[in-house]
Amino acid sequence: MKRELMRVSLAARLVREIGGFFCTRPAKIAWPGGVASFTFDDFPRSAWTNGGAILEKYDRRGTFYAAMGMAGTSSDLGALFDLEDLRAAHAHGHEIGCHTYHHRDCGQLVPSDIADEIDRNAVALARVLGAPAISNFAYPFGGVSISAKSELAMRFASCRGTGRGINHGTVDLTDLLSTSIYSRTFDRERLCQLIDDAQAASGWVIFYTHDVADEPSPYGCTPAELQSIVAYAAENMPVLPVREVLAGLRLAGGAPTAEKRAA
Ligand SMILES: [Zn+2]
Repeated sequence: MKRELMRVSLAARLVREIGGFFCTRPAKIAWPGGVASFTFDDFPRSAWTNGGAILEKYDRRGTFYAAMGMAGTSSDLGALFDLEDLRAAHAHGHEIGCHTYHHRDCGQLVPSDIADEIDRNAVALARVLGAPAISNFAYPFGGVSISAKSELAMRFASCRGTGRGINHGTVDLTDLLSTSIYSRTFDRERLCQLIDDAQAASGWVIFYTHDVADEPSPYGCTPAELQSIVAYAAENMPVLPVREVLAGLRLAGGAPTAEKRAA
């Protein structure tokens, strides 16, 4: 299957270009000193065995976006998660996030099909994990549309896209910015600069990758590359799963605040 950079449609880019106009769920992000999240799309086994272990080495946790229709299968990312991996990551305190069940591109689906995909994924996740709070979503292939944002805004606290940058000031919680950590484009200085930028802007930097392996796919990185960015982030700011950042932002009276505006 082709992945994010290859599949971000012109329509998705257009939605982002004019995103401010179609900002579905605006919120003001202000986390003094900045905050970082490390996320893994599609949940390859290596993301858990290598990526999860790196985060835990620093006593940090990440977010794994799972498409249950791909459980127990393999792809160009290598072996994907199985049900034991899912249970283990959940038990270790990592967040399990939602993708579409079949990893279908929301930018290409009508709202009723998106709803079917999400409902099916939620039921399958609940069957394995009990009744976890699956509150955050990532767009497969980074595919987004205005109708998809509207549909998903009713179901999730946040939706993560693949538009690069720092989330600060007023952001759209239905299309959070994130930056890839891929071996083929790996530039430690550039990635660490984003962490510095988040610190300076009281913002939220979200990273994503897929497999974490010594010989990664074009959509993954090596353990050494991931560790170098996790280490730098952990030195400089809290590193939290997406759900915990959102929970922190909503602390009434606390320093970090998310001032939700009229949607
Ligand atoms: Zn994906």
